[in-house]
Amino acid sequence: MGSEMCIRDRYGFMIIEDASHGIGGKYKDQPIGNCRYSDITVFSFHPVKIITTGEGGMALTNDEALAHRLALFRSHGISSSAADMQVRPNDEIWNYQQIALGFNYRMTDIQAALGLSQMQRLDEFIGNRHTLASRYDSRLTSLPLVTPWQHSDSYSSYHLYVVRLKLDQIEKTQRQVYDAIYAEGVLVNLHYIPVYRQPYYEKMGFKQGYCVQAEQYHREAISIPLFPGLTEAAQDRVVEVIREAVSL
Ligand SMILES: *Cc1c(COP(=O)(O)O)cnc(C)c1O
Repeated sequence: MGSEMCIRDRYGFMIIEDASHGIGGKYKDQPIGNCRYSDITVFSFHPVKIITTGEGGMALTNDEALAHRLALFRSHGISSSAADMQVRPNDEIWNYQQIALGFNYRMTDIQAALGLSQMQRLDEFIGNRHTLASRYDSRLTSLPLVTPWQHSDSYSSYHLYVVRLKLDQIEKTQRQVYDAIYAEGVLVNLHYIPVYRQPYYEKMGFKQGYCVQAEQYHREAISIPLFPGLTEAAQDRVVEVIREAVSL
């Protein structure tokens, strides 16, 4: 664990990294998922993510005790390891005991096989994403958009390529730009709606205006297509469609 975790140690909380998008990325040349700055890192293997197992994901930790508990929770809280089992008088030790309240979070072997084969292509996927992202960077600079800024310490997995519209330089609303792009058959999206604007959290009392910057971002953001199989010709067309959509 890095000294960067000193706030965690001082106040005694734990850090769980939601790195659902982050597999294949790096920070200061170290892979996301090494848990240098967290107790647990999670990846999602949902079909739209960097690699997939159909559904499912992975939790990573360097803490043996946590790893053991995660494995227990994965399978009904049941252990068949002699070290976990209680020896009680007049009890036979059968081949398993339930020692915690778990659930069934198991991945099937078939999913795992897909995941292993996907892992072999991880660097290729991320490399393609980087090539495409830098093509976008150079081709979109002249437009009234903010392209994703990258810190020199970070090597993004580029799960998404989100541009921010400079709405003061565009005579259209975000929705009009979105619709204009979509009408040309280019699948754009909005990532994401600030979580507290969801009805579930609003019921807890969160209101519009709570995170002004997040809301500003939400009014300007549009995700444009980025995936390893995107051809350069298709990407160039996306750029042209965007250019027209943000023009007067
Ligand atoms: C996809 C995603 C999730 C959910 O992942 P599941 O595999 O559906 O559990 C959570 N957080 C972020 C940031 C994600 O992108």
